[in-house]
Amino acid sequence: MTYIPAETRYDSMRYNRCGRSGIKLPAVSLGLWHNFGGVDRLENARAMAWRAFDLGITHFDLANNYGPPYGSAEETFGQILNKDLRPFRDELIISSKAGWDMWPGPYGDFGSRKYLVASLDQSLKRMGLEYVDIFYHHRPDPETPMEETMGALDFIVRSGRALYAGISSYSAKQTHQAVRILNELGTPLLIHQPSYNMFDRWIEGGLLDVLAEEGSGCIVFSPLAQGLLTGRYLDHIPDDSRAAKPDTFLSREDVSQEVVGKVRRLNEIARQRGQSMAQMSIAWDLRNPIVTSALIGASRPEQIEDAVGALQNLEFSSEELSAIEAILAD
Ligand code: NDP
Repeated sequence: MTYIPAETRYDSMRYNRCGRSGIKLPAVSLGLWHNFGGVDRLENARAMAWRAFDLGITHFDLANNYGPPYGSAEETFGQILNKDLRPFRDELIISSKAGWDMWPGPYGDFGSRKYLVASLDQSLKRMGLEYVDIFYHHRPDPETPMEETMGALDFIVRSGRALYAGISSYSAKQTHQAVRILNELGTPLLIHQPSYNMFDRWIEGGLLDVLAEEGSGCIVFSPLAQGLLTGRYLDHIPDDSRAAKPDTFLSREDVSQEVVGKVRRLNEIARQRGQSMAQMSIAWDLRNPIVTSALIGASRPEQIEDAVGALQNLEFSSEELSAIEAILAD
């Protein structure tokens, strides 16, 4: 089937400026960590990519080791590009990353220049791209000098392999240092990618202030706490859910009585706002103006539609915010 994107695709999405850069990102972006691997159905992956683009989601986030197996999400995305999205390459922001384990031996992990450059070259081949829009160092490396890792990002941008540089999961202090080095090199930090959701608020302890001060954007991953902050687990753990699947980072034990109890109460607030639980979780992340985009995952097109529906109501009253705080603190 030939894909023809919806003509309405730019009508309702909100695009937020990424820090003090020239780039705007959709308020909701799509990550390909799960459900785009070699073990997953290509037709479902394609349907999700189409639905996302039709709804104005211009940003697709990947990493070298997304799958399983490692590398296969980039291969899947390469196939979707070839079959469907290639004519729209200039309408897309495609990112990849390196920093977690990718291949055996000392050069396939962490933050050396050797690893980052070789890995991105592999990623470009898998996706059939000449360049990615954003390339991230995926996590801080306690051993490699930050100058080397940032030097690699600067080289990657100058060599045309990526248009912009990003970092992921760096602390406030590490981010400050990274920004200083990158500024000296002349390649500013476009964006930081940390985790953030109602259950995981570490970025409120300094990182958001650093990003605001330095003018870098912030795209938050796992805004739905991998599905916990949705309606998915309110009654039971469905067989096709992430918590029920093997080889994921969400276990059945994570779906505890305590978590489900809180989500039930949060869901009541969402209902009064006229939103699904997932929509309120996304809106809550986006309430902070430093947050450029909520980077969701999905296992089916309907979840992407639901997520984008969050944009219909991004305002919270102070009573709603206090009620949420009270539930989270309980
Ligand atoms: P989310 O917190 O958005 O969780 C996604 C999961 O939530 C889906 O797979 C689905 O679970 C469930 N879900 C999504 N929408 C709905 C809905 N509307 N209703 C009910 N359930 C829903 O994000 P992820 O943890 O998937 O992470 C998103 C992206 O962030 C990744 O793809 C990746 O790009 C990035 N990331 C980056 C990391 C980093 O280190 N930089 C680390 C982790 C992620 P189910 O499968 O059960 O249907």
